[in-house]
Amino acid sequence: MMNRYLRWIPASLCIAICSHAFSDEGMYPVSELPRLKLETKGLKIGSEELFNADKVSVVDGICKVNGCTGSFVSADGLIITNHHCAFDAIQKGSSSSNDILQDGFIAKTRADEIRAVGYTVRITESYSDVSKEVLQVASDTMPFLDRTKAIDKRRKELEKEAEQKNAGLRAEVAEMFPGKTYVLFLYTYLKDVRLVFAPPISIGAFGGETDNWEWPRHTGDFSFMRAYTAPNGSAAEYSPENVPFKPKRPIRVNAQGVNEEDFVFILGYPGRTVRQKTASFFRYEQNIRLPIVAELYAWQIAEMEKAGAVDRGVAIKHSSRSKSLANVEKRSRGQVLGLKRTDLVSKRVDEETKLKEFVNAKPEFKAKYSNLFREIDSVYEEMSANGPVELHFKELRSACRTLSFAFTLLDAAVERQKEDLDREAPYMERNFSLTMQQLKLDVGDLDRNTDVVMMNGMLERLQKLNANKAIPELNVIVGGSPEDSKSVKTALQQAIMNTRLGDVAFIEECSKKTPAELERVQDGVLQVMIRLYPAYRKLRDLDKERDGKLNQLYGSLVEVKQAYEPTTFVPDANATLRITYGRVRGYSPADAVQRTPISTLDGVLEKTTGSEPYISPKKLLATVAAKDFGPFVHPKLGKVPVAILYDTDTTGGNSGSPVLNANAELVAVNFDRTFEATINDFAWNSSYSRSIGVDIRYVLWVTGRVYGANHLLEEMGVSSR
Ligand code: ASP
Repeated sequence: MMNRYLRWIPASLCIAICSHAFSDEGMYPVSELPRLKLETKGLKIGSEELFNADKVSVVDGICKVNGCTGSFVSADGLIITNHHCAFDAIQKGSSSSNDILQDGFIAKTRADEIRAVGYTVRITESYSDVSKEVLQVASDTMPFLDRTKAIDKRRKELEKEAEQKNAGLRAEVAEMFPGKTYVLFLYTYLKDVRLVFAPPISIGAFGGETDNWEWPRHTGDFSFMRAYTAPNGSAAEYSPENVPFKPKRPIRVNAQGVNEEDFVFILGYPGRTVRQKTASFFRYEQNIRLPIVAELYAWQIAEMEKAGAVDRGVAIKHSSRSKSLANVEKRSRGQVLGLKRTDLVSKRVDEETKLKEFVNAKPEFKAKYSNLFREIDSVYEEMSANGPVELHFKELRSACRTLSFAFTLLDAAVERQKEDLDREAPYMERNFSLTMQQLKLDVGDLDRNTDVVMMNGMLERLQKLNANKAIPELNVIVGGSPEDSKSVKTALQQAIMNTRLGDVAFIEECSKKTPAELERVQDGVLQVMIRLYPAYRKLRDLDKERDGKLNQLYGSLVEVKQAYEPTTFVPDANATLRITYGRVRGYSPADAVQRTPISTLDGVLEKTTGSEPYISPKKLLATVAAKDFGPFVHPKLGKVPVAILYDTDTTGGNSGSPVLNANAELVAVNFDRTFEATINDFAWNSSYSRSIGVDIRYVLWVTGRVYGANHLLEEMGVSSR
């Protein structure tokens, strides 16, 4: 239930949404539901049942699970989300001797559930417009870096005040329109999360990277988790005394699923879209950032796979990171192709030409905005010129895990000398224990040999770019004569093999040290990071300065666009609660190619070769052979449906979102998009934008018939017969 006094509809956003009320594009804040008139689109219940500031409503059953979405599907805090969303927990619960990643996991009783360390679950409780309160600290004449810092600090102050006023809730101020609109969200924030059920990876990620971002799809990308609270119902850290969380209104599961052309909608936490950006931004993405990301990730994935091929323990350690890099790598390639295919840059250039003409035709606009586009373009041109060096330098401390650990420790030491509100967010009191928890989990996944390979690969790339010219701090690891670099390479290799940064107790010890104390620690990797650290800070400030400038300029661009034609707006995703709607629908990805929107078990069998990535577990094959389909057969198709396709507007973060039917019952769990729809983040289009969900009938069949976890079906109120 949302607090009435915090009801929110910012004026600028309202214009944007009102004008799009009849289009299918858009991830709308739920406060805008009445304007969407979903009853005329196919919704069979009143939209006030979905979200009502004064009453318990459907949105109370939706939660954010780390960067994904989930739905409460029982009165006892049972959450359905994706396999890939629970992947970290599954991986951390696996070892070569108890490989739940490979074999799957079923908690027969609540006591058997596995702690999902590092997981949090949040539920939106209320929101309010705080744009004025945020922007009062910013002026147009401020240096850009100061502007970003002032806005950031103000957001943190408002969060702190809100948390003081609302004990037990978590506050976050989200930027809705850059430089214009800010909204304070209050969340119930649960920290004891456990793994309940996961199918084997051969079902959860059936088809692997070959099928990822593709349709037709036959992946059972689902899992069950459970959120717990203290016995009195308040949010609490893990404790065996904790009890299942009681959602205000769980989502009903409908085992009948959906048919082609049925109305569906999705509630969830889409991460980020950037649809209001200029042509120069898209040029930067297409020509610089995305190709670099794709190359760097493809190389790292290949190296991790090589290392994992000879040692299952190493493969398990790499699995989570490798999977998420692979996901972004393929998406980046899809986005480059999509940008070219849709010719987005030229289209945006044409739009901007019209906007410029509009500005120049009005003296008062001309006086204010005539340099607007030039200024925005100059930021991206500068970013493009420096992009290769900067992006590789950033990746150095991401690819090489020990350097990343050293950075976090050093950064924490420096930041924690400051007042809480002046610190970078991960080191603030409210976040630090989670930051440390994550760091320790990452340390557990270190494989030193792979780390040496990553370091060498990054050094070669940085050397080729002569990166030390722009970043002299890099001289410590690149630069100099070939002989010098050879001996530096050997020294770095030894530093990685001998560093104590692979030891959780050492990490814990270092996390309590001041920067001066860290400088005295004799550890090769830490010492290298101490030399590189000033350059990383400089780059972070430079990014903030760019953000400050763009933030202000995009604020002006919104003004120009509103004056020109309000219809061009759709609110960008920013990891806050949104609704999107559409229909179960096929598409034509290419000339003479027509794709239908429901895949079935037949496809699983057709694809199963017995070798990666198309292995089906024996139990699944035996259940098929026994024709044990239970009540989960699609009446028209006569088969168990596996996945469905629909034309809603989704992005990353919508992973795990419920796909709901016209009565707001869960009929599928969203997990992906088609290859053409990777471009959704930049532009949505009803002809190519399709999202993919695992059909509830496949979820129930796998859980109940194949793996016998009928207690979960019962808990959801679903019959297995
Ligand atoms: N599979 C996607 C992801 O994990 C979900 C999406 O982006 O649509 O990011």
